[in-house]
Amino acid sequence: KRKIAVMTSGGDSPGMSGAVRAVVRSAIAMGHEAYCIYEGYEGLVQGGDLIKKMDWEDVRGWLSEGGTLIGTARCAAFRERPGRLAAARNLIVNGINGLIVCGGDGSLTGADLFRSEWPGLLEELVEREELTKEQIEPFQTLNIAGLVGSIDNDMSCTDATIGAYSSLARICQAVDYIDATAASHQRAFVIEVMGRHCGWLAVMSGVSTGADYIFIPEKPPGEGWEKQMCDIIARHRKLGKRKTIVIVAEGAIDRDLKPITSEYVKKVLVDELKLDTRVTCLGHVQRGGTAVAYDRMLATLQGVEAVRAIVNAKTGRPSPMIAITENKITRKPLVEAVRMTKGVAEAIKNKDFDQAMKLRDAEFDE
Ligand code: ADP
Repeated sequence: KRKIAVMTSGGDSPGMSGAVRAVVRSAIAMGHEAYCIYEGYEGLVQGGDLIKKMDWEDVRGWLSEGGTLIGTARCAAFRERPGRLAAARNLIVNGINGLIVCGGDGSLTGADLFRSEWPGLLEELVEREELTKEQIEPFQTLNIAGLVGSIDNDMSCTDATIGAYSSLARICQAVDYIDATAASHQRAFVIEVMGRHCGWLAVMSGVSTGADYIFIPEKPPGEGWEKQMCDIIARHRKLGKRKTIVIVAEGAIDRDLKPITSEYVKKVLVDELKLDTRVTCLGHVQRGGTAVAYDRMLATLQGVEAVRAIVNAKTGRPSPMIAITENKITRKPLVEAVRMTKGVAEAIKNKDFDQAMKLRDAEFDE
């Protein structure tokens, strides 16, 4: 009988609670004990009441919930070794030797670092006389598995992250609302959506709502884009379109890495095309609301797979990140997925946009 803990960390996303529910219930169904670590790594570092044993009924109704019902946080202490020593101690004290982290690339980096320091952390705790040799004896390995919770769909090696489709649905709904007023007044709307290094929400919402033009960080427009954008929009108007929708990812940039702001796009539309233009920044509504069916499915299937991965883990094998590729739930090497994801941001910084797109799309063999 194993004690398996689950936590959510980093930015919240719809479906995280569903993933927690799936982990808790499948751990129990497979004959193990389930624990929740509240408030992300903060709960792991502080321990005490923030680590709770969960029963089947404790997660009732969690499947459809938005955000995360066990809290999430950014935790500076976990970035330092003393914080991770405290975290290791709290796991041992609670008898936990399997940890499932649902978060973004930062959270999964932290999880892998933690595992790589095992069992060194325990030996140090014995030296400090915080734990005894007998106490650490049964905990020589720590198994971890990563679940990706993020609205941005910004993780390499997986087709979708938990929360991305809920956020996309919310954006489409908001654009539909704006469409009605835009068409009534023949207005142009510049709509800003989330995505700092990742244009997935902008591209997919643009495709799903028939936007006229889209700006994303991975593929900045070339010089003279203002004229190109205006020509396209003018053509659409000439064909009888009564509204204009331009979608800007929050991390949109030009080829010199200068941010392309919604206000600037608006100015271009007003100055060049004399369009009555408004800016709408969708902000945190994109994170809210219940999880759509896809995210409930993803959270549930991946949560079950994460528990399986922990239970069947072999010593010496790399930690898995639970992914979905070509509609199948898969396991990918967590370190590689994180490395490629960080590579996208690096490539953008280095103006190597082809490489950014490649790292986003790349296939990765296990
Ligand atoms: P996300 O998981 O959404 O990418 P962050 O990058 O803020 O969000 O990471 C969430 C938390 O994960 C951080 O507050 C920190 O506690 C932990 N973390 C992130 N990067 C590291 C790291 N390199 N080493 C240790 N812990 C980390």
